[in-house]
Amino acid sequence: MSLRPSILDPLFAPANTLPGVGPKVAPLLDRLVGEPGRPTRVMDLLFHLPSGGVSREMKGSIADAPVGEPVTLSVTVVAHRPPPPGRRAPYRILVEDETGDVTLVFFNGQKARLEKLLPVGERRYVSGKIELWEAMRQMVHPDRILDDKGIENLPAVEAVYGLTEGLSSRMVGRYVGAALERVPRVPEWQDAAWLDRNGLPDFASALAAIHRPGNAQQLSEDALSKSPARRRLAYDEILASQLALALVRSRMRRLPGRVNAGDGHLVERIKRALPFGLTGSQSKAVDDIRNDLVADKKMLRLLQGDVGSGKTVVGLLAMASAIEAGRQAALMAPTEILARQHYERIAPLAEQAGLSMALLTGREKGAARKAVLAGLADGSINIAVGTHALFQEGVAFQDLGVAVVDEQHRFGVHQRLALGSKGEAVDILVMTATPIPRTLALTYFGDMDVSVLSEKPAGRKPIATKLISIERLDEVIGAMGRAIGNGDQVYWVCPLVGESETVDLAAAEERFEQLKSIFGDQIGLVHGKMAGRDKDAAMERFSKGETKILVSTTVIEVGVDVPNATIMVIEHAERFGLAQLHQLRGRVGRGSRSSTCLLIYKGPLGQVAQARLEMMRQTEDGFRIAEEDLRLRGEGEVLGTRQSGLPGFKLARLEVDGDLLAAARDDARLIVDRDPDLVSDRGQALRVLLYMFERDSAIRLLRAG
Ligand code: ADP
Ligand code: MG
Repeated sequence: MSLRPSILDPLFAPANTLPGVGPKVAPLLDRLVGEPGRPTRVMDLLFHLPSGGVSREMKGSIADAPVGEPVTLSVTVVAHRPPPPGRRAPYRILVEDETGDVTLVFFNGQKARLEKLLPVGERRYVSGKIELWEAMRQMVHPDRILDDKGIENLPAVEAVYGLTEGLSSRMVGRYVGAALERVPRVPEWQDAAWLDRNGLPDFASALAAIHRPGNAQQLSEDALSKSPARRRLAYDEILASQLALALVRSRMRRLPGRVNAGDGHLVERIKRALPFGLTGSQSKAVDDIRNDLVADKKMLRLLQGDVGSGKTVVGLLAMASAIEAGRQAALMAPTEILARQHYERIAPLAEQAGLSMALLTGREKGAARKAVLAGLADGSINIAVGTHALFQEGVAFQDLGVAVVDEQHRFGVHQRLALGSKGEAVDILVMTATPIPRTLALTYFGDMDVSVLSEKPAGRKPIATKLISIERLDEVIGAMGRAIGNGDQVYWVCPLVGESETVDLAAAEERFEQLKSIFGDQIGLVHGKMAGRDKDAAMERFSKGETKILVSTTVIEVGVDVPNATIMVIEHAERFGLAQLHQLRGRVGRGSRSSTCLLIYKGPLGQVAQARLEMMRQTEDGFRIAEEDLRLRGEGEVLGTRQSGLPGFKLARLEVDGDLLAAARDDARLIVDRDPDLVSDRGQALRVLLYMFERDSAIRLLRAG
């Protein structure tokens, strides 16, 4: 049973409880604002903000009416001019006022209907845009045709909504209007003085002000960004997310942690086994982590470092600490390929340190899986490496001390909670290669401490990035031939063609065949649809240098590490996002040889695509690239939340509301300090807020004590 306060029921009710939303319209709304698997709710409509506004105020006379802008005119119908029989011409109706005339134009107009709507000699009000056609004024398909009674009920300004096929802006406006009637009087969760000081309205007024604006100007893109009403709602949403994070954080801190580090002998042994010394920032991160582990509070730390900065070894040393303290450690990767690669990389080091390791992904089945589960349960396995399969039900550790989560920027509060539940006071280290702009880091990791790997291991050479038109593909292929002759290895990433993986695949396979006809066995292919074992085999052949060119779809995007690969070819680079290009490029430049990245594009390039590729050519700085990406594309894309279904923001826009984030984080921490269980009046109201924005998983923590 949901513990959602019943005051919110009207907002969570399905949209088909609204007047006019029947079985035909409901699916259209689902397509517009719904989420897969659940019907559109009243609040989804309310949170579907207008994309602009149209003024319906009467704009004087026909002669004065501006061309190309929405106008509403009072006119007399003069004459109907139906198309001549058998001709595919529009139906025209001439209307006039004292100052001039306008022809209303209807394609496929039905005579009977139009005669009823616009009877000759009568006064009517029409609204729409006037255009000039052969120097005559005309209005094609007026938005509105009203009589005297109708005009009285027409609001002076109408909100305009983003649409889906089959729904007009007017229909959406009508349903939103009905939804507004359902908005309950919720208790105020924001600080009253703060609202006052910033001139912000209450929640219900804010919604009403946005959907029923006083003038059309208020809904222009720019005005809406700054509008107090939208800012208020944006702050509500941001505060809800920051409060959820702050509650998780405070809960984690309140739980007794355990000392998860021993005398350091294993850590030393592994360090000695490494073929390199740690960088300064790696050492600093290792120290940060050790301090967390010895303290008797729980660790929740983000290790942030650009691709190739060497996060894995830091994670390994954290795990070694836990094992020194007599506990187990787990390393979770987002894909099978990565899990396997981590396993293979770590195995020799673990062996030298005398540790036992096991791999657990969705692919381990039957007896093998049983053996791993038994080893985890009885403690004979020290380190478990795997995918999310590690944290599913039915996997029990004897005594998990540290969990390291790699490359998981798509990792939400829910997952953090699930992870923590696998053991008593598990210390958590999340490693991310996505250089997350500061604002976003706050949103997603506001509850974590952060260590940053700010330098790359010594001896790395810069990657030369070149932009090349697809028309010069032959030259590229020739150059690859020379390069592999010199002992280089090449990643060849094929275009992201469309929505469907099948199409991408066809393109990759085609390129593979073509290259194979030139280079023979030296070519390998790997893509997301291959069976796991085939994928591994293809990766392994490349990793061992048996194949020299690895053609792939974007599956190699994250994490894969083949230091000998020095050339990255990305086809149709203009179709990739900046962050993705950066991740892909980061696959090379890992060894001491100089590396090259060839961004192959198909012209002509649009402005944004041009800017992106230029950016890639200019810098290797992941943070700069990420900031630019955020500016060009918006936050959902940067974090990949749109694809992964993490609840992103509906109302807040980090491009314009970034300033609210830090404020909300401080606000949230203060609230949790003063009223950790949300029992005060404001605390109760804040619970309503958390439910409203569906950040209520954090509330379970309160009840648990
Ligand atoms: P990422 O941060 O992208 O996960 P990895 O942990 O995969 O990076 O490290 C990239 C490569 O750099 C690996 O081959 C790793 O062995 C190597 N490496 C890590 N730390 C150092 C270091 N301090 N000096 C030299 N090479 C290092
Ligand atoms: Mg990595």
